[in-house]
Amino acid sequence: MISIHEAIELILDKIHPLPTEIVLLGDAVGRVLRMDVDARRDIPPQDNSAMDGYAFAYPEDAQEPLTLEVIDFIAAGHRPSQGLQPGEAAKIMTGAPVPDGADTVIPVEDTEAEGITVTFQRIPKKGANIRLAGEDVKEGEAVMSPGVKIRPTEAGMFAALGRSVVSVSQRPRVAILSTGDEIVEIDEAYAQGKIVNSNAYGLAAQVTQAGGVPVMLGIGRDSPEALYEILESARLCDMVLTTGGVSMGDRDFMLEVFEKWGVKREFWKVSMKPGKPVAFGMKGRKPVFGLPGNPVSAMVAFEQFVRPALRKMLGFERLFRPVFTATLAPDAGAVRAKVGRTEFVRCSVEYDGGQFKIVSVKKRGSGILSTLVEANGLMIIPAASEGVEPGGEVKVQLYDYELIEGADPGW
Ligand code: AMP
Ligand code: MG
Repeated sequence: MISIHEAIELILDKIHPLPTEIVLLGDAVGRVLRMDVDARRDIPPQDNSAMDGYAFAYPEDAQEPLTLEVIDFIAAGHRPSQGLQPGEAAKIMTGAPVPDGADTVIPVEDTEAEGITVTFQRIPKKGANIRLAGEDVKEGEAVMSPGVKIRPTEAGMFAALGRSVVSVSQRPRVAILSTGDEIVEIDEAYAQGKIVNSNAYGLAAQVTQAGGVPVMLGIGRDSPEALYEILESARLCDMVLTTGGVSMGDRDFMLEVFEKWGVKREFWKVSMKPGKPVAFGMKGRKPVFGLPGNPVSAMVAFEQFVRPALRKMLGFERLFRPVFTATLAPDAGAVRAKVGRTEFVRCSVEYDGGQFKIVSVKKRGSGILSTLVEANGLMIIPAASEGVEPGGEVKVQLYDYELIEGADPGW
């Protein structure tokens, strides 16, 4: 059996970013940027006023109050009709280009206008209230680099740079196959001994959240022929996930079916809990994961192996969930673990007084899906550790931020 470290290395070694595609800017948010983005022009394109007021040349030797002759009116989106001479001012609106000869703007509320003159008691600092050309972004400057998720901020920047199309990673199409004679679809009539196909829906959501496109293959019956046939329809996908049928049971056929289908196996079984029986191999360029059938094992194995793999296919620079050091609350009880395997323990994490706290530790059975629902993090108990004492520190992966969203705005 290999360690979790060896497993992730074997996986990432085999996986490469998918090709790119071009999308319209409006469809780009959430996608992974795959291009270098340089500014084609200065932003802002020219010196312009930051206030509604009067533009003038800062007089090196003038007395206060200062009275100037108003010779122009410049609205936003319009050009000055002329340059300014000493003693002259132009009324100017926010965003309008500053006329030649002017270098300073005084806000209208600090002035008194009378006829064709304007007077102000205090002269502002030289250069005040002017946004300089290129002060946001300079022409030729590198603004964004590949391997990051396009956020609303990047979308705004693309628009500011005058770009309406973006090169992003193709979304990996991920085939999801559930296996088991006991598995039924959500809306099938309830029958004794049957179990609803929860894995496919949980995994599909994980795929979507990670940036992939789930392709539901349905439920395969526990026979090598049935499983082989259904796998054939995964040919056009970029990745395959199956659940169940990878343990030691008499009806666990996944490994032999993978082999027959042409999957070159990289490993089977990892010293971790939950998720131990996970299998991984490549069919050509297609990664194939045989995830365990137990719902918690499947989702935890997805988190540890499939999500980083998907992120690598997507061209992300960073592949893993954020990991924080958290303190196990004194009343959360001790966490005991067996040496020799990496254990992931479901827990509720809160952010309190500047640090992460594990406020409760959940039941650890690999079939108990409700505890994943209650939790937002996975404590990582390293293979060499016997566990964590109350009040002790432990690393925790946060798979969801909803429970640490603010209860107040914090301002
Ligand atoms: P297996 O590895 O095929 O023996 O599956 C282990 C356990 O996981 C079984 O007892 C099933 O109850 C459960 N299981 C397998 N597949 C699914 C599924 N698609 N949805 C929910 N539970 C499943
Ligand atoms: Mg099974």
